[in-house]
Amino acid sequence: MNRRTLLRTALAGAAGVAAGVAGTRELPSWFGWDQPPVRGGYAAAADDLTAIKHADVAIRYRVETTEPVVAFTFDDGPAPQWTPMVLDALEAAGVPATFFMVGQNLADHADLVRGRLARHEVGNHSWSHADLATLDLQDVCDELDRTHEAIKQYTGRTATLMRPPFGHLGGSTALAAARAGYDIVLWSEEMHEIRYKNDPAAQARFIVDAVKPGDIILAHDAGDDRRLVTVHGLAAMFDGLRRRGFRFVTVSELIAVGAGGRSAATPL
Ligand SMILES: [Zn+2]
Repeated sequence: MNRRTLLRTALAGAAGVAAGVAGTRELPSWFGWDQPPVRGGYAAAADDLTAIKHADVAIRYRVETTEPVVAFTFDDGPAPQWTPMVLDALEAAGVPATFFMVGQNLADHADLVRGRLARHEVGNHSWSHADLATLDLQDVCDELDRTHEAIKQYTGRTATLMRPPFGHLGGSTALAAARAGYDIVLWSEEMHEIRYKNDPAAQARFIVDAVKPGDIILAHDAGDDRRLVTVHGLAAMFDGLRRRGFRFVTVSELIAVGAGGRSAATPL
């Protein structure tokens, strides 16, 4: 995989991450621009540069480390079907995870996570699961701010991480994240719930074999029945990764490990 492990860049550069996709070119009809998910989105970084309160913004697919650490992340909840099962699996295995919550789902289902997040981290996944790459700065800020407040209200946490829905990253999202002091967190491995439909053991084997030190794994605790292949495979994933010597951390803990690794490896 040739993805950059960490992109710490000036905001203008961050905006350029998505700029090449649409630009001003006319899109061919097969592009499916109005059919999500689309690949990327337009970069709207220039609409209000006064929003920049931090000099740069981190975009993390994984972290650079030789330590056998991995961070599981669960998006889109809380939701009645899978969130309690995911929390049960994490609790049974003593594994911390990071939940990128949709604000309106948290407001609707805060009871599902109340008192159950002690070892876990909570990140911001927008209020309505909108495609933020298609929104201007003010609308992205509204999505993030409202969710930030909901996370504070219902979990008592101050979120420091955000993940854009669909992984669609536009310039307005980079600016909004910078304004809020968030790191943007994407992922370096993910569940393949269609490929391994009805075969949790195969899904688990894939993850156990694929994970590398510093990986961030994308999973979901909301959605349709396809999620079951992940939910039912979690115990085997945790067991198999432990056998490989991995330990489990939240994304913020992973970032701290990566930062330590870099400074230790860099000659003064
Ligand atoms: Zn999502």
